Amino acid sequence: MTPEEFRAAGHELIDWIADHRARVPDLPVAAQVRPGEVRAALPIRAPEAPEPFADVLADLDRVVVPGVTQTQHPGFYGWFPSNASLASVLGDIASGGVGALGITWQSAPALTEVEQVVTDWLRELCGLSPQWRGAIQDTASTACLVAMLAARERASDGSEHRGGLQSLDAPLVAYTSPQAHSSVPKAALLAGFGADNLRLVDVDPVTYAMDPAALRRAMAEDAAAGRTPAVVVAAVGTTGTTAMDPVPAIVEVAREHGAWVHVDAAMAGSAMLLPEMAHLFAGVDDADSLAWNPHKWMGTILDTSLLYVRDVDHLVSVMSTTPSYLRASTDAEVVQYKDWGIPLGRRFRALKLWFHLRLDGVEAIRARLRRDLENARWLAGQVEAEPGWRVLAPVELQTVCIRHEPVGPDGEPLDGDALDAHTLAWVDAVNDSGRAFLGASRLDGRWMVRVSIGAEATERADVEALWSLVRGAAASAGA
Ligand code: PLP
Repeated sequence: MTPEEFRAAGHELIDWIADHRARVPDLPVAAQVRPGEVRAALPIRAPEAPEPFADVLADLDRVVVPGVTQTQHPGFYGWFPSNASLASVLGDIASGGVGALGITWQSAPALTEVEQVVTDWLRELCGLSPQWRGAIQDTASTACLVAMLAARERASDGSEHRGGLQSLDAPLVAYTSPQAHSSVPKAALLAGFGADNLRLVDVDPVTYAMDPAALRRAMAEDAAAGRTPAVVVAAVGTTGTTAMDPVPAIVEVAREHGAWVHVDAAMAGSAMLLPEMAHLFAGVDDADSLAWNPHKWMGTILDTSLLYVRDVDHLVSVMSTTPSYLRASTDAEVVQYKDWGIPLGRRFRALKLWFHLRLDGVEAIRARLRRDLENARWLAGQVEAEPGWRVLAPVELQTVCIRHEPVGPDGEPLDGDALDAHTLAWVDAVNDSGRAFLGASRLDGRWMVRVSIGAEATERADVEALWSLVRGAAASAGA
């Protein structure tokens, strides 16, 4: 494709994106395909001859759009807000257009230095002190793995470093809560802690936040038994209920054992942009690492996850590789992001953030986050006031965990498997309606429904419509 052909097709594509976004509210929210349907709609072999751009565009409408859950829809309340602000979409296109290769500072100085600038901007906006340094990772899962590797190496330290885990006499132990995201146990496993050396510390039964007294007991027991407490992953905004693990107390306990504290604020981290929410993030500045995803609630398109660390020299000592073919052509001190994580090559992801922040501005992003917090409080108030309905966990941010607990045919409140069946029936009915999309998950062994408010397009009227839809679906599902 020549630049001129690209120009013509590119204009058509931009028009297509703008038209698509305008009609998203009229589409069903859930993906409309059965397993295998998308594959079956496509040829089994790659084309030998070029196809017209119009045919490719037509297939976006015919095959791709029905095969996508419309996370930009005002009725999207599933999993977590997965906003893809159009300003950041432009940055993503620009990133592809520049076609930079980020393997060293030398290969694309601008790629490195724009990333330094935007991660510094966000560090300051989040209220982290200047010694923190950030890099963009693909996801919070990778960020957690990188943090755990750094923690592992700090705990196994010195001469044993090159011998790896095999050379340690005392097993290293990681701690998190049963409410932590599944990426945390996965990272612990990948970082070599092993399932036997990951402790799931009890949570408070009402707030679902980690109990620091239980953490203290677990760490003391391990230390007394000759194991080394190495890392605690605190969830600040758990996936299930947005519970906030008490970071100040966790840091205090961890410090007694020299353990690393990683804060996983993948979804909730966007709220650090709001000064009035700073109390929820107290103590984070004293942790060792922090991950949060602008690609969730804040709205920079995937994949834009931030990993901040306090001691970047340590991270670099763990991750650094200098093969001869990456010889530096300058002696100046430059950041080599290849030494801040796992991959060598990186995309120019910083452009997505740069465009997003510059074109939308922080104040508009803050206003949207505040709107979502207000909408969540409004919905929680409605649910609490409605007989037969419950809000199951504190509404810390924009997620409201709810259940309809009607009276059963025997005149007793529905519970057990019958209650689970009822919950899944009404949530499926809402999702099948195409007008909204909700997520179900288990809390204390029973199904509940998470209303995760925060799609860029969701206004109060949409939340009001959702509440009416939900009540209707629950009433029709019967007891
Ligand atoms: N941590 C928390 C608290 C999450 O809610 C999620 C995703 O829902 C993740 C980690 C994983 O995020 P990612 O998809 O960026 O790996």
